[in-house]
Amino acid sequence: MKAIVATADHKAEVIEKEMRPLEYGEALLDMECCGVCHTDLHVKNADFGDVTGRVLGHEGIGIVKEVGPGVTSLKVGDRASVAWFFEGCGHCEYCGTGRETLCRSVKNAGYTADGGMAEEVIVTADYAVKVPDGLDPAAASSITCAGVTCYKAIKEAHLNAGQWILISGMGGLGNLALQYAKNVFNLKVVAVDVNDGQLEFAKEYGADICINPLKTDVAEFVQKELGGVHGAVVTAVAKSAFNDAVGAVRAGARVVAVGLPSAAMDLSIPRLVLDGIQVVGSLVGTREDLKEAFQFGAEGKVVPNCEMRPMEDINDIFDEMERGEIRGRMVIDLKN
Ligand SMILES: [Zn+2]
Ligand SMILES: [Zn+2]
Repeated sequence: MKAIVATADHKAEVIEKEMRPLEYGEALLDMECCGVCHTDLHVKNADFGDVTGRVLGHEGIGIVKEVGPGVTSLKVGDRASVAWFFEGCGHCEYCGTGRETLCRSVKNAGYTADGGMAEEVIVTADYAVKVPDGLDPAAASSITCAGVTCYKAIKEAHLNAGQWILISGMGGLGNLALQYAKNVFNLKVVAVDVNDGQLEFAKEYGADICINPLKTDVAEFVQKELGGVHGAVVTAVAKSAFNDAVGAVRAGARVVAVGLPSAAMDLSIPRLVLDGIQVVGSLVGTREDLKEAFQFGAEGKVVPNCEMRPMEDINDIFDEMERGEIRGRMVIDLKN
């Protein structure tokens, strides 16, 4: 079978790979597609350490072809996911308290375990979340990482219907965050991006207010017009976006960090203490979060904007990603 692996010179390559037999608790997926995420770019560039030979991808969707001994959570013919949260230990303080993505012995698909960019993938069956009927595989692929990340981040903002949320960064992640915020959580949205094209797109998807921080001071505008937002989710990969979000929230609000710029943010301690602001990080989502995020996709409340590409395009996709040219989500077609 064919698979996309990371190479020693920080490229991706399509190779021929032999599959091993299934072990206890594992299932074999006949893959349909796998989205390309910004994290894959970091992995193949060895930003998190050398992973030469690792099969990339953590937005994989496939059909169960075979189950190993002891598997009860999946059966042949089910559609299931290969997600960044590939497997937890199942018994630590995090796994036991609904915070399994923080497990210190976690395995991540396409990084510490072989991932979804292959014609066949072996998964730990109990950790491969089933995709509900009626959800297109390409859409499911984008929800497996980007979608659930946004869904979980908005949950972490602890908001009620009708309140204002600021979403910073309107790219592939932000567009999904906007749809979850509007169509699932029933929030009012301030969309922030440095690119007017992305803001136009956000407007079409229902953003109530759009702000370009290169033209307007985000914190000043939001405080003046709304008295501050009730919460913020930052998907942008710029330190300034984090600072702007802290400046734009009202007292008692939560700022949820999702984007991963390798920088430190400025945080005024008086602002934190006197206004009771909370700044929290949010990492993908648990299996339950992913089930819920999938279900909203199946109900048509969230529609990822995907483009199917052949396996051979992988390096072109990474180049386009580095140049910031990608709108929506690129998905590798593993069937053709
Ligand atoms: Zn991802
Ligand atoms: Zn654990």
